[in-house]
Amino acid sequence: MSKRIAVYAGSFDPFTLGHLDIALRGSRLVDNLVIAIGNNPAKKYMLSFQQRVELIEDACCAIPNIEIKQFHGLLVGFCQKIEANIILRGLRSEKDLSFETPIALANRNMAPMVETVFLLADPSLQFVSSSLAKEVAFYGGDTSHFLTPLAEKYIGDVDY
Ligand code: ADP
Repeated sequence: MSKRIAVYAGSFDPFTLGHLDIALRGSRLVDNLVIAIGNNPAKKYMLSFQQRVELIEDACCAIPNIEIKQFHGLLVGFCQKIEANIILRGLRSEKDLSFETPIALANRNMAPMVETVFLLADPSLQFVSSSLAKEVAFYGGDTSHFLTPLAEKYIGDVDY
């Protein structure tokens, strides 16, 4: 049987404890998990690409079968390039499901051999998102339920 290689893609601006939970649980289901950081020159990120890599390296240091890569363009094209056969996604809510469903179907249409696998969010992390973490940080709130200590530092150091 061919190796199970999954891609978990996102902007990860910043990588949250919710992302970490999906990466950890997903990594146990596959041989290799590639965390694909979206780096689109037309998109504005709060953290640099290098900072986003560092946060993932730091958070995932105990996960042995993880690799971090940069991607832009079509996710299925990236999967085919690195011979990945699984796209890993997390589902927090019905809103996530309705957002993800047409994307998963379109990806399946373009690349039938690449299967999208959804993991349900841990109930305690269901409300965690990068955007809410940034908003809480902006107003000086406690982000320890959203972010690793290093991510809290990087977000806290941002000049608004
Ligand atoms: P982006 O970084 O491109 O905005 P997201 O962070 O929204 O993307 O999502 C990347 C993936 O991580 C999606 O599959 C999303 O559903 C999942 N995800 C994000 N936050 C959580 C969470 N708290 N629990 C589970 N999955 C999550």
